[in-house]
Amino acid sequence: MMLVFIGPPGAGKGTQARRLTERFAIPQVATGDMLRARKDAGTLPADLAETMSAGGLLPDEAVVRLIADRIGEPDCARGFILDGFPRTRGQATALEGMLKGLKMALDRVIFLQVPDSLIVERIVNRRVCVSTGEVFHLMYSPAPPGREVRQRDDDTEVKIRRRLQEYGNTFEALREYYGSLVREVDGTGSIDEVSTRISQALEA
Ligand code: AMP
Repeated sequence: MMLVFIGPPGAGKGTQARRLTERFAIPQVATGDMLRARKDAGTLPADLAETMSAGGLLPDEAVVRLIADRIGEPDCARGFILDGFPRTRGQATALEGMLKGLKMALDRVIFLQVPDSLIVERIVNRRVCVSTGEVFHLMYSPAPPGREVRQRDDDTEVKIRRRLQEYGNTFEALREYYGSLVREVDGTGSIDEVSTRISQALEA
């Protein structure tokens, strides 16, 4: 199963992708997580780290290279779930070229839809476990006692607005690009409700 998750920040792409990794036994490939790991390790060039912190998009070539290396690894041979990539038409074209080279093709492109008002509420309350990367919500799914959590530096209201704007600038082009592969899924409601809708979308 080769899947792509597209949606605004805080739409639940990561949470839902993680669930599917267990169901299909294929890895989740999240450019945001890969870039944050490099940023935390100090191996991301300073200008790229700054753009990330400000909520801007990195240049296509920087993320395309990351993905090209990652999806060529053996654990991706049976499939993978892309989360946060592609985000531009240029990235989508690059991905198509890579997949052709690997004799692979996408099965579905899931667009998770959540209104902006809900996104802001979700993101300012989002906290990430420092050791496992699990995502919690301060009110709806707080971290168990004893867990060290932190807020992403781009999860502030001002930066969310920029990230939503970046998403708004590019998602139509992606929807057009992927045409009949696209399934639009309502991302509001509980995690279980959204999972059920995604399962239905994968069969449709
Ligand atoms: P995310 O965790 O998906 O919200 O990504 C966090 C940040 O990483 C984004 O705001 C961008 O700065 C950067 N990033 C992640 N994926 C991409 C991508 N496909 N293209 C450009 N920038 C990206």
